[in-house]
Amino acid sequence: DRTDITYFGAGPALLPTDVLEKAAQALLNFNNTGLGIAEHSHRSQHATDIINQAKADLASYLDIPDDYDVLFMSGGGTGEFSATVYNLVGAWVTKKKLEILQQLGVTNEADANQDELVSALKKAVDSELKLDYLVTGGWSLKAYQEAGRLLGPEFVNLATDSRTINNGKFGKIPEESSWKLSKAPAFVYYCDNETVDGVEFPKFPESLAPQADGSGPIVVADMSSNILSRRFPVKNFSVVFFGAQKNLGSTGVTVVVIKKSLLAPACPQPSPSLLRKIGLPIPPVVFTYETIAKNNSLYNTLSIFDVYIAGQVLKKLLNTYPDKVDGQEAVANAKSALIYNALEAHPNVYKIVPDKSVRSRMNICFRVTVNGETDKAESEFLKKGTELGLTGLKGHRSVGGIRASNYNSITPDGAKKLAQFLNDFATNA
Ligand code: PMP
Repeated sequence: DRTDITYFGAGPALLPTDVLEKAAQALLNFNNTGLGIAEHSHRSQHATDIINQAKADLASYLDIPDDYDVLFMSGGGTGEFSATVYNLVGAWVTKKKLEILQQLGVTNEADANQDELVSALKKAVDSELKLDYLVTGGWSLKAYQEAGRLLGPEFVNLATDSRTINNGKFGKIPEESSWKLSKAPAFVYYCDNETVDGVEFPKFPESLAPQADGSGPIVVADMSSNILSRRFPVKNFSVVFFGAQKNLGSTGVTVVVIKKSLLAPACPQPSPSLLRKIGLPIPPVVFTYETIAKNNSLYNTLSIFDVYIAGQVLKKLLNTYPDKVDGQEAVANAKSALIYNALEAHPNVYKIVPDKSVRSRMNICFRVTVNGETDKAESEFLKKGTELGLTGLKGHRSVGGIRASNYNSITPDGAKKLAQFLNDFATNA
């Protein structure tokens, strides 16, 4: 049964058993209402309460300031690759439009000569609009490609690509001084933890930090696979998004933490007709942050069951760690150190894939070689691991090898079991 298994899958990932037990009960009969949580209307008070509590608990756990909103969306991390483009290009257009109106000497858009406005805006789009991507692994690469697909490659700037300094492979992060950031990009995008490649930014990049007066680049980060595992400076980001299915809960909801100054009324999205005139894509309404925020994430039918599970995970974290994310961070660091130390103790058998400076604490990627053979040794490793109840260790299909995903739900005991197995396997090889 569950107690015999430690599952190191990369996502969907292991969920705490007590959370699942509670969710199983709620699925049958939520709060003695005689109806399950997946059956209640998303317009019910229950749904609103679940959303508001999960938002409040997330904000408390991560110290999210009041000038940020939390949105629950559908479409996964992949949906956010598109949503971030649509919404932040929209915000860029709105700001540019205000600048142009000022140059035209009018305060109201309606008072401007429309042809003049559109032509100036179109010119600005063609000559100035740039999205910067730091490509450090498979997921930031996918996000970069999606931006090029939606807008056209001429608008997308590959500010850095780790493969150029690592023999065509991911596994390092280029020095910040080598990044080719645009002058005033609509955003700088990066993936804080690359799930497939086992690469994690050690800390917030200095070159993206805000100035003393608060100004600075608009930073967007994908934190799908390391959210809730360490503290990060929320105020340095305009948007942080993450799918739930690794550290937060079950597949089906994606969370967006967004600075309110990027939403209406401070920064309303441009109208579809204006976007059409200047040749930019019109966001599908379900991907429009403004609409989702205005409706407290209930513009359309949201999976409240998935928000409920996320809420229970957050409650458990808050109950376990009085110092909130800092407490979990210390545990995550200790677990990953245990596993990396076991790998490093046997350099003849294990080769850690990423460079030491950027090793992920969440996705531990390595190769296994015995007597000069890798494929055979890795099959044997996976087989022996499974026999011991250590499962989900196969690397991503695009890169092969072994990947141990050390998410929050892996207990220190689970990490210890893996470290012991790493030692035993290498010693007997
Ligand atoms: N970003 C990261 C860092 C991921 O690990 C994943 C999925 N493993 C995604 C984005 C894509 O998420 P989804 O499958 O929910 O679209």
